[in-house]
Amino acid sequence: MKTTRRIVQFGFLTLTLVGVFVVKGNAERWCPFGGVEAIYTYATEGNMLCSLGVSNFYILGALLLITLLLRRAFCGYACPIGTLSEWLGAGAARLGFKPRSVPYRLDRGLAKLKYVVLVVILYFTWTYAELEFRVADPCYALLSRHGEDITFWAYVVAGAVVIGSLLVIMPFCRWLCPLAAVMHPLSRFGFTRVKRDEETCIDCGLCSKVCPTGIPVDKVDEVKAARCMSCLNCVTVCPRDSAGAISWGPPKAFGRSWPQAALIGIILVCFAAAVGAAYALPIPSFTRVVEGRGDLPAESAIAELEVYNLSCRGRASLFAYFVERDDVYELPGYLKIEAWPGPGAAPVHITFDPTQTDPDAISEAIMEPYYDAVSDIWRSSPFEVSGYDPLGLDGDTSEGEQPSPGAD
Ligand code: SF4
Ligand code: SF4
Repeated sequence: MKTTRRIVQFGFLTLTLVGVFVVKGNAERWCPFGGVEAIYTYATEGNMLCSLGVSNFYILGALLLITLLLRRAFCGYACPIGTLSEWLGAGAARLGFKPRSVPYRLDRGLAKLKYVVLVVILYFTWTYAELEFRVADPCYALLSRHGEDITFWAYVVAGAVVIGSLLVIMPFCRWLCPLAAVMHPLSRFGFTRVKRDEETCIDCGLCSKVCPTGIPVDKVDEVKAARCMSCLNCVTVCPRDSAGAISWGPPKAFGRSWPQAALIGIILVCFAAAVGAAYALPIPSFTRVVEGRGDLPAESAIAELEVYNLSCRGRASLFAYFVERDDVYELPGYLKIEAWPGPGAAPVHITFDPTQTDPDAISEAIMEPYYDAVSDIWRSSPFEVSGYDPLGLDGDTSEGEQPSPGAD
């Protein structure tokens, strides 16, 4: 069981590392906590934060479903920080530096800190509509391509997580992780649980000893603690598991036990469904409707473009500024922008009134220099529309191949 779980952890960690460092994708867009951070801005403005996409909401939905079914199994099987932390602790133990256990009361007290961390992060993120947690996000420090927006403090926190993991079992996951604070209340109602049979149990206490979250497994009938990661260490170590002393599955009332494969299958199906939904139902992550033009005319058309340098929400706002220009390239019939900012060519749909403008005029507005009256200078457009040649050198001013929007 332990080996199988390690393989699953290795798979998720490898997927993350390949996605970030080999494919050079945007890992933040697949972080469930990004969905939590973006909820407020998306609900009030229709826009995601920074370079997040609606894929964050789909992954968050999958995570919450997993939590309702399997408690905090995400921490024990899929979270890269959880995996690194656990493996560091295991590595230290092998070298003879066994991570210390923390007294139960102190552990329970420290566990409340994660709610404080969550509230502070959400306050600043929702107030300033920026990913404020980045400045101290260990995940961002350890699993990003170390761009200019990464701070010294993120490395300090990441270093503290690494050192802390060598001294205590998974300290960040148990006490400080804001995502754990989101999962915890739901995990309390988790459907599956570890079950102990008092008839066959010999009260050796081994199950409690190996529990990374300090649950007194040998004292309960069913593990209903929200902090259970469904790691099944307690089942693996039990000398009487074949006699049915301990098992995992639905509540005892259902009278059945499930294999670990069911647990892993549920995790994989939920995440695969979330990824599939992100591509099949690509809701725009940036929307701008021209004031007073919210009701579309009887006949409207959509220019489907691929735009370079539209990597995040800030760039999308700048993009809207170029489309909403009021000089000779003004677009009288422009009604709405829907965009999926991201690395490379970002899909953009611009709704317009075909009696007033056309896709070429829209591409021209996006790419022509712009007179900045405040600074009294001309600014060149930072954007490039795929397939649009403003000088007509290719003799081809068509829109080129139509992109299909979606998560990167
Ligand atoms: S050892 Fe058992 S009780 Fe403890 S977290 Fe793992 S599955 Fe849950
Ligand atoms: S390890 Fe097994 S036998 Fe020992 S206390 Fe736990 S459930 Fe009972």
